[in-house]
Amino acid sequence: MKAMEKRHQKEIKRMQEMQLQHRLAEKKQMDAGHAIEAPPAAASSKEASSPQPENLSTSSSPSSSQESEQRHQEGKKQCLQLLRRVVSVGNPEKKYTGCEIIGSGSFGTVYKAFDAATGRAVAIKQIDLQHQGCEYVLRELLVMRAKKNPNIITYLESYLVNGDVWLVLEYMDGGSLAEVVSQKRMLVGHIATVCRECLQGLAFLHANKVIHRDIKSDNILLGRDGSVKLADFGLCAVLTPERSQRKSTIGTTCWMAPEVVRGEPYGPKVDTWSLGIVGIEMTKGRP
Ligand code: ATP
Repeated sequence: MKAMEKRHQKEIKRMQEMQLQHRLAEKKQMDAGHAIEAPPAAASSKEASSPQPENLSTSSSPSSSQESEQRHQEGKKQCLQLLRRVVSVGNPEKKYTGCEIIGSGSFGTVYKAFDAATGRAVAIKQIDLQHQGCEYVLRELLVMRAKKNPNIITYLESYLVNGDVWLVLEYMDGGSLAEVVSQKRMLVGHIATVCRECLQGLAFLHANKVIHRDIKSDNILLGRDGSVKLADFGLCAVLTPERSQRKSTIGTTCWMAPEVVRGEPYGPKVDTWSLGIVGIEMTKGRP
């Protein structure tokens, strides 16, 4: 167990080093006068419900855009190498059968399937690496794999299949909190329970230096046994002693804390704000 934890820490550290290199390169460009992060955008109706990934695009001269393309390709290569090392080998289509679509998000499609050997239901999140940056997928995978908690969706394994990453996760048979709030008003006792369970999940993440950055009812999954778990770590950030705060305008507009919208430095408390908005969803049906 200890050795596994050590390996996970090493992989996360490696990914952070890659991110740091990427950031340093970006900073160099910024110092040279190039814009990097988009200014906080006003909310359009689509943005209000779709997650906004970090804007890493650069406006630059032809030579620096060539350099940045080279760096991008190099980063992608390193990321893919690391991904290949952490995914399982074998054919997931043989291991998991009876796939049916249960959800889709901006980053991929989620299927329910069964482990052919045990009959256990699982959720398989298929993410297109072309569409969703490799770095984001790797971060989601490594964070979920390393951070196990009763209020966090359990990561089981993953595969690389024709340019897609398949994340195999525990299946939550109660659906998402978003489905509940859109259909009925919840009782105060139920709202309090969901808040407590989510706060336990957040306390665990924050103690482990992870900011979720996309807390909303769509990303809170329910079990028929009463379990409440945080899902979708595609936009999360891992804090380090060197970078204990973040600045990217990232998340889903209606749930974003003011400091995120304004592009100011922020820490884990932004998740607590977003959970407050989930409280509004639970009482009023809308964020
Ligand atoms: P988003 O656009 O919100 O970022 P995404 O593409 O990152 O979405 P998820 O939010 O992880 O994808 O999943 C989309 C939907 O699939 C969820 O809202 C939920 O309905 C369903 N889903 C995801 N994971 C599971 C699971 N483990 N068990 C049951 N259903 C799930």
